[in-house]
Amino acid sequence: MSAGKPARPAGIGLYGGTFDPIHTAHLRLARALRDELALDSVRLIPSGVPPHRPPPHASADHRLAMARLAVAGEPGLDVDARELTPGASGYTVDTLAALRREVGPTLPLWWLIGADQLAGLERWHRWQDLLTLANLAVAARPGFGSLPLPPAVDALWQSRQATDFANFPAAGRIRALTLSPVDVSATAIRADLAAGGDGLGALPPAVLGYIRRHRLYRIESI
Ligand code: ATP
Repeated sequence: MSAGKPARPAGIGLYGGTFDPIHTAHLRLARALRDELALDSVRLIPSGVPPHRPPPHASADHRLAMARLAVAGEPGLDVDARELTPGASGYTVDTLAALRREVGPTLPLWWLIGADQLAGLERWHRWQDLLTLANLAVAARPGFGSLPLPPAVDALWQSRQATDFANFPAAGRIRALTLSPVDVSATAIRADLAAGGDGLGALPPAVLGYIRRHRLYRIESI
């Protein structure tokens, strides 16, 4: 091994979401994932029409463009458009399986979700296969830390906690991020934009400029 090279593969972070629009809490989470786990990169993966949620308000092209603007110049943050390509199933388990095939069996993958998504994990397609493909990083979210998890998700949460932070396996472990929760949601931002606001001051300037140029999230569209 050459001098200065890490003894273990650092891994790749994966962060899926509707990003409708992408906001500063999303970016803060992506940076925390990159920095707390010393990852080579974090890929933001905008979802198509999510199977388990209402359709997004902005088109896939707009959400993708905003995500790209938001990460421009951010070291280690990239946008991966695979879920927006025709024929993509939209299921995270399929995305993770494709990524696992691409990176091989040993590179740690870290899939990031907010605590609200953890609470509903049982509703995800083939949810028990997710941890065979990746590790899971969970970010605290206001209103969700104190609620009991459904029993099956709680059992997973208890049994898969990462303990050896120096030797992460390729998949199968769960780790909570330590960053403090922040009470920002795309829903509240869209409502503020529709009322003529600036998105609660929670949008990167380039994203706010894009929204204004393209007249997104106006009252008639939310
Ligand atoms: P909406 O209000 O439209 O549901 P959202 O920002 O919650 O917007 P997504 O864009 O799909 O929804 O979020 C992507 C991921 O980021 C999800 O896993 C979600 O749990 C997480 N997330 C979003 N905002 C926060 C936040 N403030 N704190 C923690 N996690 C968050």
